Amino acid sequence: MATRKFLLISIDCLRYDALSRTNPRLDTPKFDVLTRDYQLAESFFVTAPATRPSHTSLFTGLYPFEHGLFGQTYLKMFGGVTNLFHLLQQQGFDVSGHSERPDVFRFLDYENAIGPMDPAARNQCLGSLEPVLDVLDAGGDEPQLRFLHFWYTHGGYGLGGIKLDPSLKALVDAGRTEEALRYYYAAAVQVQEFRIVEILKKIDLKEWAVFLFGDHGEGFDPEIMAHGDLIHHKVARVPLLAHLPEARWRLPAGTLSMIDLFPTICELAEIDADYRGYGQSLVDDTPRHGRWVLTELDSLYGVGFLNPGNLEIAHHRVTSRVAIDDKHLERNPQGTRQWSISDGEVLFRFDEISGKHVLREMSSGRDLACADPTPYRVRYEALLDGSEYGDLRAQDETAIEQGVLKQRLQDLGYL
Ligand SMILES: [Zn+2]
Repeated sequence: MATRKFLLISIDCLRYDALSRTNPRLDTPKFDVLTRDYQLAESFFVTAPATRPSHTSLFTGLYPFEHGLFGQTYLKMFGGVTNLFHLLQQQGFDVSGHSERPDVFRFLDYENAIGPMDPAARNQCLGSLEPVLDVLDAGGDEPQLRFLHFWYTHGGYGLGGIKLDPSLKALVDAGRTEEALRYYYAAAVQVQEFRIVEILKKIDLKEWAVFLFGDHGEGFDPEIMAHGDLIHHKVARVPLLAHLPEARWRLPAGTLSMIDLFPTICELAEIDADYRGYGQSLVDDTPRHGRWVLTELDSLYGVGFLNPGNLEIAHHRVTSRVAIDDKHLERNPQGTRQWSISDGEVLFRFDEISGKHVLREMSSGRDLACADPTPYRVRYEALLDGSEYGDLRAQDETAIEQGVLKQRLQDLGYL
């Protein structure tokens, strides 16, 4: 029988170790009882170390190079991409998204589906959950897709208004990472144990499929403090807790990706979406050991995204994925373009601007010798060349965009 109720819970910046199951320092007894029968993925990867492209992969089942949001500062997706909200709405589902930071989804195809968690609150992280609980109550027996996005765990971690000396970054740089992480873990506990539990109490596990995950992790590492500037093993791999109504279902072992949730939901809901992406439904529990999944980062354009200058621009003024009023966004002097592939055992990262590569063991974070990056590059290029969505790319990737990268590489002597 088709599943008719789906709950997606995204906790921003949720690292793999910010969960009691992976880290006994997190004390979340109520959350643990409510998620006791959920499956935890051992190797679940995001497609991008940034909120906008990562969620766009969640809702489309496509990698950033396929859906068009190459990085956080890209304004729009490629045209003609199917997203989960519209797809399920067409099939008679009642769909809604509720975010503690809804404006982060501005200009994306699905932005109209996502509103604030509490419409009456000025600061969403201080708002009430009751409006969301009312939505769940009102849904009754209707087919439903609900998306919840928690922002309290995002950089700052609720510390606004508190002067810390030394700062979290200074602590990490001084090797006192465990002290700095206390503040981050406290925010993760706050969201899980005091907010999400109230949602999960409402969920009848015989009817609902539930997926809870981070949209990317967080560094707390001398190499990267937050996320977004570098593809790092602590940022690319996140927890995924999953529950399906089917008894005896198990999450497949091996390497999983954010793009797997779209085909999973389509299969459970028995919807033919003509999906031709790289995502693999999680309903089938065949192990995926040896599967390589992709993470992409592109910050060549724009500087930041979460400022009023971007968030309050009228929609009609955004004239392309990288232009406002037909004027190209400024190029970011510190901009980078990177990709990584991982099989869950190692992560290979390549920086297209510097030409440097890193091969890293996932379990230890230790760098491994890698004299010849060719085999990894071949795997990456096979993903690009094998995509069934190349037509979308060709439709919209501007010559200027391609030119920017080419020029950067020429400037640096790589072409
Ligand atoms: Zn995020």
